[in-house]
Amino acid sequence: MPNCLFCKIISKEIKSNTIYEDEKVVAFLDINPKAPTHILIVPKKHISTILEMEEKDKELIGHIYWVANNLAINNSINQEGFRVVLNCNKDAGQEVFHIHFHLLGGRKFSWPPG
Ligand code: 5GP
Ligand code: ZN
Repeated sequence: MPNCLFCKIISKEIKSNTIYEDEKVVAFLDINPKAPTHILIVPKKHISTILEMEEKDKELIGHIYWVANNLAINNSINQEGFRVVLNCNKDAGQEVFHIHFHLLGGRKFSWPPG
């Protein structure tokens, strides 16, 4: 998708600290981390918000949670705990309109979220 920041990161037109990649997803460090561990897991397919997810994407979204689990273990945040967060549209604070799952850990989080 032209002019999509995360499509440009996926195609390596824009640099990122990529820590995992497979045929379906890329995971890289958030440029402005909100926790000691803050990784963005992004499908290579451009989907602008989770509302644009199609039925055929169900396996892809499940795969993202599988990758999140593995990255949580590899980054040693699995025992203490972590969050996987997806923001959708304005009130949730979505800024980049290519879906991405925030994997956050390394500190205690409050509940309910702010
Ligand atoms: P959102 O608010 O859309 O859920 O999250 C967007 C996230 O992307 C933010 O946490 C922000 O720090 C991150 N971000 C924005 N621009 C860049 C960038 O150019 N590179 C990286 N690695 N992260 C970015
Ligand atoms: Zn995109």
